[in-house]
Amino acid sequence: MNPATTHQVVQVALKVPFADHLDYAIDQATTMPQVGCRVVVPLGRNKQLVGVVVGLPGHSEHQQLKPVTRVLETEPLFNQKDLMLLKKAARYYQVSWGEMILTALPVWFKKTDNNPVPEELWWQTSATPAAAKQALSKAPRQWDVFHYLYQHGPLTSKSLSHLSASAAQICRQLQDKNLLSASPVCQISNQHAQNPGFTLTDDQQSTLKHLLSHDAAFRVMLLDGITGSGKTEVYIRFIQHVLSKAQQVLVLVPEIGLTPQLFQEISHRIDGQLAVLHSGLSAGARARVWQHAHQGLVDVVVATRSGIFTPFKELGAIIVDEEHDLSYKQQEGVRYSARDMAVLRGQHINIPVVLGSATPGFESFNHAREGRYDWLKLRSRTNQSPLPVVRLQNTLNKKQNHGLSHESFSAIVQQLEAGHQVLVFLNRRGWSPRLLCHDCGWVAMCDDCDAALTYHKHLGLLRCHHCERRYSLPEFCPECGSQEVETMGVGTERLASGLIEQLGEDQVIRFDRDAVRTPKQWQQSLNQIRQARPCVIVGTQMLAKGHDFPLLSLVVVVNVDNSFFSVDFRAMEHLAQLMIQVSGRAGRAQTRGEVILQTQFPEHPFFNQLFDRGYEAFASEQLKERAEMMFPPFAHLAIIKAQHHDERTLDQWLTAMVEFCSGNEQVSVMGPLPATLAKKQKQHRMQIIFSAAERKFLHHLIQQLKQHFSPRKSKVLWFVDIDPVSF
Ligand code: ADP
Ligand code: ZN
Ligand code: ZN
Repeated sequence: MNPATTHQVVQVALKVPFADHLDYAIDQATTMPQVGCRVVVPLGRNKQLVGVVVGLPGHSEHQQLKPVTRVLETEPLFNQKDLMLLKKAARYYQVSWGEMILTALPVWFKKTDNNPVPEELWWQTSATPAAAKQALSKAPRQWDVFHYLYQHGPLTSKSLSHLSASAAQICRQLQDKNLLSASPVCQISNQHAQNPGFTLTDDQQSTLKHLLSHDAAFRVMLLDGITGSGKTEVYIRFIQHVLSKAQQVLVLVPEIGLTPQLFQEISHRIDGQLAVLHSGLSAGARARVWQHAHQGLVDVVVATRSGIFTPFKELGAIIVDEEHDLSYKQQEGVRYSARDMAVLRGQHINIPVVLGSATPGFESFNHAREGRYDWLKLRSRTNQSPLPVVRLQNTLNKKQNHGLSHESFSAIVQQLEAGHQVLVFLNRRGWSPRLLCHDCGWVAMCDDCDAALTYHKHLGLLRCHHCERRYSLPEFCPECGSQEVETMGVGTERLASGLIEQLGEDQVIRFDRDAVRTPKQWQQSLNQIRQARPCVIVGTQMLAKGHDFPLLSLVVVVNVDNSFFSVDFRAMEHLAQLMIQVSGRAGRAQTRGEVILQTQFPEHPFFNQLFDRGYEAFASEQLKERAEMMFPPFAHLAIIKAQHHDERTLDQWLTAMVEFCSGNEQVSVMGPLPATLAKKQKQHRMQIIFSAAERKFLHHLIQQLKQHFSPRKSKVLWFVDIDPVSF
C-alpha cells in the first residue's frame, strides 16, 4: 500500500488508554466521514470497535493504515466544541481523549451494528376520550389517531401509518394539544404554564435578580439555601428566562429517585419540551434524548450524572441541584465528577452555571468564600416555619429495643397519636451487621472480601454487602464450636420489625434497597407515605434527601456515631450534610419539626459546632483544620488504586511505584496502604495517595507513572482517581 495521501486519513478516538487517537484509511468505496461522526474500525487481530473521528489530517506518518470498516453516520454526533471539551476533561482526569469520548457516549451509540435510534412511543395523556372527542370535533384525522392509540397504544407513529401518512406530524399536533405524550422520554409541558400565586421571598428575589443579570457569560453561582428556602422556585424562574432567549437548559440531579419530582415541578411550569435522562431508561430512549437535545428539539433536560455529556444545540445554562452529592462522582471507568464537569463545560462554552445546595460541598463553599463563585444565600424558609429542634439522645449504656431508646420510642408514639408521620433513619440494611461468637469473639466474614457479613432474617441468610455473596447461617461457631452465636447491631430490617411488633404492620413502612427494588415499588412506597396517615418510615440514605413529606414532624437518627471513627478526612463534612438533609425532612409544613439523634458521644464537638452554630460556621471551622492539614480544597489529591489476587505481588508493584516517585519535591506520596476495603471478591486492594499544592505537578507525575508502569504491561490492575471522594 502507498503511504496514505490527502483526504484518505482519519484520526479515530477509541476506548484505548495508550493514545488519544489512531490513524485509519478511508478506502475509495467509503464516503469520507466528518469530524464528530462515529466509525467502526478494526483493532488488533480481530476486534471491531466504535470510535469517533476527531481529525482529518490529510496524511499520516504511518504506512499501511488499516481501513475504516464502516462509517456510522453522515451528520456528526459531536460538534468541534464538545470534542475539545472532552479533550480538556481527558487531560484533567488523566485518560486518553478516546476514553473520555467513549465515556460520554450513551451505550446505544457504542454498538457496531448501528441500528437507528428507536422512535418514541405515543400514548394518551390523562385526557378522557370524551374530552378528546370534543376537542377534536373539527379534526377527524387527529381523533382517529387519538382513538386508535387509546385502544392500542403505546405505539410508534410508524405503526399508525395505516391511519395517515402523516401520523408522526399528527402525533406532534396532539402532543401540542396535551392529548398525547411521548413518554417517558419527551414531554411537552403545559402550554399555559403559570407561575403560582405567591410572591417570592426577599432572598429568592435578590438571588433571581442576580441570576438574571448574569445570564450571558460564564460564571459560577452557588445557591446556598437552607431546606425549604425555595431554591426550586428560583431554578424554575431562571429556566423560564433562559428558554425565553431561545436557549436550552441542562439540570443535573443526583439520583434517579429525585428525578420525577423535580421533573414534574419543572414540567408544570415551563413552556417547552422537557426530557429526562437517567440510567433507568432504555438505551434507545437515552439515545433519543441525546439526538433531540442535539437537534434542539428539547428545551430542558433533567438528567443524572452522565447527562452532563448531553450535546445541545444552544445550551444557555447548567443547573446542578444538590451539588455536594457524592453520586455526581463516577466510581468506575473514567472517574469524573459531573459537578466539576459542569463548571468546566460552562467555562468552555461561556455560559452560567448554578450550583445549588442546602449544604454546599466544602470545595464549592471555599470557592464562594474566596470570591471565585458568587455566593447567593437563602436563609429563610418560604413558609416561615422555624428549622427543627435538634435533641441529642445519649444511648451509652442504655437499654435499647431493636435499636431505639425508650425515649425515642415514646416520642414516636406521641407524634403518631397527634396524626403525624415519623422518619427513623438508619444507614444500614439487613437485620444486623454482624454475627458474633460470644465465647471466642469470632465474627462471620466474607471469604472473598475483608468485610463482616450482614444477617438478613427474611432470607435466613448471611450476605456480603460488598460482593453480594450469600452464606448459610452457621449453627455452631466454626472456631470454637460454641452455640452462643448471636447477631449484633441493628439494621433497617430489624428496626422495622421491632416497630411492627409494637405498632402493627400498617403503621410501618420500610424504605431501603431490600424493600424497595424497582422504580415502581419506589413510587408505590412514596404514594403510601403521601396518603397522609400517621406512620413510621424506616429508611436509609435513599430517603434522606429531596422528598417532601408534609406530615413528617419527627426524624430519629439511629447511630450517628460511625463517622466519628472514619479515616476519611471528609467524614465530618459528609456526616454534617447527611444530618442536615435528614433533619430537613421534618416540619416542612405546619408543625415545627423535631430531630432526635441517638449517640453515645453527646459531648462530641461535632454536634455543638453544627447544630448550635449552623452549617456555614461549621464548614468554616472544618476548613481551618483542612488548611492546617493540607487536605483538599487546599491541596489536590490523586489516588492510584490497585488490585491483585496475590498480596505480595501487589505490594511489590506499588512499592516500585512509590520508589519511582521518590525525590519529587512538589508531590507528597503516601503508601502503599491497604484500601478501606482491603480485599474484595478475592482481590487484595491497595492504594497510593498523592497530594500537591498545584495540580500541574500532580498531573506531571501521574503521566510519568503511566508511561513507566503502563497498565497494559502489568499484571496488577491499577487506575488513577483524580479528586477522589472515597478511599
Ligand atoms: P428547597 O428546594 O430550597 O428545599 P423548595 O423549592 O422545595 O425548597 O420550596 C419549598 C416549598 O415552598 C415548595 O412547596 C414551594 O412550592 C414553596 N415556595 C417556594 N417559593 C415560595 C414563596 N415565595 N412563597 C411561598 N411558597 C413558596
Ligand atoms: Zn467461637
Ligand atoms: Zn464479599
